[in-house]
Amino acid sequence: MARYVMVIDTRKCVGCQDCVAACQTENRVPRGWHRDWIVEESRGEFPSLRLEIRSERCNHCARPPCVHCCPTGASHVEEPGGVVLVTPQQCIGCKACLAACPYDARFIHPDGYADKCTFCAPRIAQGLAPACVAVCPTHCLHFGDVEDPLNAVSQLLKSRASHVLLPEAGTQPCIHYLT
Ligand code: SF4
Ligand code: SF4
Ligand code: SF4
Repeated sequence: MARYVMVIDTRKCVGCQDCVAACQTENRVPRGWHRDWIVEESRGEFPSLRLEIRSERCNHCARPPCVHCCPTGASHVEEPGGVVLVTPQQCIGCKACLAACPYDARFIHPDGYADKCTFCAPRIAQGLAPACVAVCPTHCLHFGDVEDPLNAVSQLLKSRASHVLLPEAGTQPCIHYLT
């Protein structure tokens, strides 16, 4: 079974926000809201401190609390790929999923439903890369099936050190950051 992940090379990210702008345009994200964003964080310990620049979004968690708490089934896991999606027509805007997400990845769209990164599901269905991946000028974003050992994401995870965000939350995030 396919498992879609993103592998992001923090050593190549320059924080240019092109991924944010591409997502806004591709997904018609309403003004003032974001499906992805840039975080800058100092990591490591002196004297090997490093500024990590990260392009963040929904982690498409393998154990997603946002899905488990949803009272209507609007939040769900789409197969193949394990992508976490929301069906707007089923969402009642109760915000249970916003409270359950440890990554603050969701917002309520002005039309009344929970919204967030979809891994650009319509583009994936056409065999295209997600918009943020396609536009990144330093090619630091990689999207693919981690169950395929020949896929670039699998190769990168094998050959480089990486981390996920808030592993202690037990959500098993599917966005991996190369360090
Ligand atoms: Fe759900 Fe948040 Fe995980 Fe995305 S990052 S799958 S919204 S818990
Ligand atoms: Fe489900 Fe919508 Fe409530 Fe989120 S806001 S838990 S998607 S009904
Ligand atoms: Fe936005 Fe698509 Fe990138 Fe998700 S995968 S952050 S929806 S452009």
